[in-house]
Amino acid sequence: MQSPYPIKLRMAQFSTTFLDELLSRADIVELIGRHVDLKPSGANMMGLCPFHHEKTPSFSVSTDKQIYYCFGCGKGGNAYRYLMEHDGYAFPEAVEFLANKVGMPMPERQVANPHEEAKKKAGLGLLQQVADVFHRTLAGEQGGKARAYFERRKLPQAIINNYQLGFAPAGYGFMQRCFGTDTKTLQQLERIGVLIKNERGYADRFRDRIMFPIRNKNGQVVGYGGRILDDGEPKYLNSPETDFYHKSDLLYGFSEHRDYIRKHKLLVVVEGYMDVLAMAAHELPCALAPLGTAITEQQLQNILRLHGEPIFCFDGDRAGRQAAWRAIERMLPHLKSEHSPRFLYLPDGADPDSLLQEEGKVAFEKRLREDARPMLETLVKGLKNIAGDGAEGRARMAKKADTMLSTMTDDYLRQAWQGEIEKISGVNLIHQKPNNFAANRRNQTALKPQRPLSVAPMKHDRFMASLLQDSKRFSQLPDDAYDFFIDNHPFKSLYTRAFSLAGDDDNTLEITAQLMREFPDNQDIARWVNLPIVEDAEFQMLLIDMHMSYLDGLRGRAEGLTVIMRLNEELKALRAQQHQLKNSSEKEN
Ligand SMILES: [Zn+2]
Repeated sequence: MQSPYPIKLRMAQFSTTFLDELLSRADIVELIGRHVDLKPSGANMMGLCPFHHEKTPSFSVSTDKQIYYCFGCGKGGNAYRYLMEHDGYAFPEAVEFLANKVGMPMPERQVANPHEEAKKKAGLGLLQQVADVFHRTLAGEQGGKARAYFERRKLPQAIINNYQLGFAPAGYGFMQRCFGTDTKTLQQLERIGVLIKNERGYADRFRDRIMFPIRNKNGQVVGYGGRILDDGEPKYLNSPETDFYHKSDLLYGFSEHRDYIRKHKLLVVVEGYMDVLAMAAHELPCALAPLGTAITEQQLQNILRLHGEPIFCFDGDRAGRQAAWRAIERMLPHLKSEHSPRFLYLPDGADPDSLLQEEGKVAFEKRLREDARPMLETLVKGLKNIAGDGAEGRARMAKKADTMLSTMTDDYLRQAWQGEIEKISGVNLIHQKPNNFAANRRNQTALKPQRPLSVAPMKHDRFMASLLQDSKRFSQLPDDAYDFFIDNHPFKSLYTRAFSLAGDDDNTLEITAQLMREFPDNQDIARWVNLPIVEDAEFQMLLIDMHMSYLDGLRGRAEGLTVIMRLNEELKALRAQQHQLKNSSEKEN
């Protein structure tokens, strides 16, 4: 996943020697083999891509260069990248995971402030302790009312234990009674969001509430949701934003259900904690819920990264439809053609819990898989509702659709959807927000490029692949090869950097590793490495081809007659070489 920190900052925590050593000891084939059945194919291993849905393998892993690439969806990188993209780790977590796996001790982290680290660790420890206390209280004398609630909701004890549900008793002073009253402890409890400081001292935030611990991606408790038992307000109270708890980024059930979702390819987004738990109680541990607020873009991105075909489950009432609409609007900028989210409106007055009680797991799962409608269909229905009837209605629908579609960043998907909506409304969508469009294009190399290959002529692509597959070829390049790519060419910076890294001996591994480090969001490197081997004969042809284009460009800009004549001579010689190569290769075939 994309880390919010610039790569330089992320990298600075570890020395490159350590990162390289760790990569060389970790086996990417084994790492990916946990999720993907890989079979040898030429120099590489191939399997079904874990990032997008496919029936024939287009996911390649280069065993010697330890880099993967999917020719279907364009995802690629090294072991760190895989752990970040696939398992949702942040960079330092991916490093730690690999280090543990291969048994390499972690270096002393050069974090800005070891004191901060210690504080963070203490905070997380305390958050877990508080969850333990709530959980014990639920089982104890004071928990009777809360236990009765769970019984009414038919929530089994195993779920209560697995999700560590708890109870915060009524009244004030509970936290102090459990953890003591020394100033440092109270400050810490305030910092993690369970105490509120006011003019009279510290007060418990959660009182007389059922407690749902909320975990981050690593499964650590970072906050709580609290549900009131009687009719009091607010019905749900959650942790405030703290150093640990960021409600717009977290999803209830994420760390608990991640593996099941991947394995069973079923992800259901529901509205509340109890829906998540009711589904788990019916052997469907595949639900996630936002934390009491409307779903955010960040949460939607996390959902799509975990599974590209989520099912969004909403109440059939007005509020449910509005929530669905918001989810659609916020998802559009992040939607790619490999995603296919679907939407399901539940019957009036029903929620996942009541439906599961009534019809059982099998019928409910069938409902999910069969009744959920594609996002485009849901979008069109919503547009029709908003726009109303008649010619004016169709015009309003087209206008609104135009605005919404302009936020999409996947050009192909946008065009496809635009075509569908034009068919339905009978109106051509005119605004394409060219500014937005251009900005996306510009950003494409900086972000994950899903650039079609045709943007760069095939020979440029093959040429780069031939060099990054075998760095000895750099030594065969002519002196002027440094300028083979024009300045604004998308491969220019990669090429010149690789050029400067190349030695006389084969150092392909070092070059690819270094490039991946310096261009962390570039997917071309991984793709070139995983392309079928570019044979020497092709490389010789490519080399001449590149050289000729370069000289041709020079000739176009040249002024003096002598210069032009010299260039003509060079081109003539190259053309002769080209003929010779072509003839000899034809003879061979
Ligand atoms: Zn893929």
